[in-house]
Amino acid sequence: MYVGNELRKRHKPDNKVTWIIDRNVNTTNVCIANCKFCNFYRIPGHAESYITDIEQYKTKIEETFRLGGEQLLLQGGHHPDLGLKFYTDLFRQLKKLYPALKLHSLGPPEIAHIAKLEGKTHTEVLSALKEAGLDSLPGAGLKF
Ligand code: SF4
Repeated sequence: MYVGNELRKRHKPDNKVTWIIDRNVNTTNVCIANCKFCNFYRIPGHAESYITDIEQYKTKIEETFRLGGEQLLLQGGHHPDLGLKFYTDLFRQLKKLYPALKLHSLGPPEIAHIAKLEGKTHTEVLSALKEAGLDSLPGAGLKF
């Protein structure tokens, strides 16, 4: 906390604190990580499993904009069939529909999962996602 506060003072010497409105939206609840504490995930093929579709994103994004929000925090399970192309296509489509939307999306475990599925490095996955429209990565302090 001390170091974080000192860094904040260095970066924001005027001590001005700002905030934004964003919305958490889950990409899918299908996950193969099996974390013991998790009541969110469903195994592949489960009757309650879902992948959020573009119409659902549109509804949620437009509601967010109407309420003054500007950013989506997209996170979800480690779906065994959703690789890099799924996310780059999704990010491109969302940015094309809503150029002002900020994508603060996917966490380090999801990047690791995608990298493993694709046989790519974390850097290669992050570069491709950034190219597709990712603005920042939650939980990693990474802004592009
Ligand atoms: S990775 Fe996330 S969604 Fe999957 S089981 Fe763990 S906490 Fe749940």
